[in-house]
Amino acid sequence: MPAIHALPDQLINQIAAGEVIERPAAALKELLENSIDAGATEIDIALARGGVKLIRVADNGGGIEREDLQLAVARHATSKLATASDLEGIATLGFRGEALASIASVARVSLTSRSRDKAHAWRIEVDAGEVGMPQPAALASGTTVTVNELFFNTPARRKFLRTDATEYGHCEEAFRRIALAQPDVAFTFQHNGSVRFRLLAQGRRARVDALLGSEFAAQAAHVDEHGAGLSIAGWAVRPAHATTARDAQYFFVNGRFVRDRILAHALREAYRDVLHQDRQPAYALWLAIEARQVDVNVHPTKTEVRFRESGAIHQFVRRAIQKSLADTAAEQPAVSAAEKLGVAAARIPPWTSPTGAQRSFAPLVEQTTIGLGAGEPSTF
Ligand code: ADP
Ligand code: MG
Repeated sequence: MPAIHALPDQLINQIAAGEVIERPAAALKELLENSIDAGATEIDIALARGGVKLIRVADNGGGIEREDLQLAVARHATSKLATASDLEGIATLGFRGEALASIASVARVSLTSRSRDKAHAWRIEVDAGEVGMPQPAALASGTTVTVNELFFNTPARRKFLRTDATEYGHCEEAFRRIALAQPDVAFTFQHNGSVRFRLLAQGRRARVDALLGSEFAAQAAHVDEHGAGLSIAGWAVRPAHATTARDAQYFFVNGRFVRDRILAHALREAYRDVLHQDRQPAYALWLAIEARQVDVNVHPTKTEVRFRESGAIHQFVRRAIQKSLADTAAEQPAVSAAEKLGVAAARIPPWTSPTGAQRSFAPLVEQTTIGLGAGEPSTF
């Protein structure tokens, strides 16, 4: 057995990257979270080749001081957390201080930032973990992060990347989740030079219409319930319009997309008696809860949460959805009669994306590749 030795930082960061930066979409998610944490109201995203060749995120947030630029790409360096008790009530999307270090260890990164009231911007370049000195740069405001050639120095990880179209699909979904979670932020989103989304700051309804198609909310029950220290709002599909697809299940907790068993189960329970067996509930729901009631420090990707009082949350969510579905059924006798006969579901096409394509990754894959990756199951 070789002697035990401490690993070099670059290798430590690459190991962390294995967990946090699984594919371009994960890097995009982390960069967008940083922009939102920085208070950005406008975020411009440009991708090339599914994000493998290029991910660029430009925001108008608070920026980073020259003397902090190198720290920003260092591991375990964060401005969002100082003490263990901060960890008990995280109000930002990030807090682990490892995303930029991880990304920079497996790509060529440039970080340009102009903090408020500064005469100009500063830039650092990081090449596979090698951090350069800050250089003066031009930038109107905020921060621009450019990630080139993701995984260029980790061939094993690069091999696991799918086709550009598949990686693009994952990026689009990561974008959709964040843009839904943060409707008051304006976004543009480009891939290979063509604009895919241009979203003004808007309310939730307009954002849902833009990203999930206008049929989605129109065919859903409106949810808006308040409890002690928590609230839930959004849309849950009316049973007659539910399809067999699982792809429109968006749950946001305090502005963060989460996958949570308790919440998913509460939804299933709420729909249990009204949904045909093979139909899936579709929903876009925003839960707001005191930060201290939910632990987001569960997994490096921060999409899992633990509720302090999971039983109470389950009950609150289930009842809120049941009530909204019952209210809508009462308001809309015609639909509810049709629901009973099961004819509405057959007549009304599943809701579609703004481009008119049915929302799943399959069409994206088919557009640019033939066969490759088309049969691949969505991994999230
Ligand atoms: P975390 O978000 O967990 O703090 P990151 O590695 O993602 O860790 O970012 C490290 C630090 O760099 C952040 O805490 C923040 O201070 C700074 N930073 C990163 N991106 C931006 C940005 N777009 N605007 C302003 N500051 C940023
Ligand atoms: Mg972060």
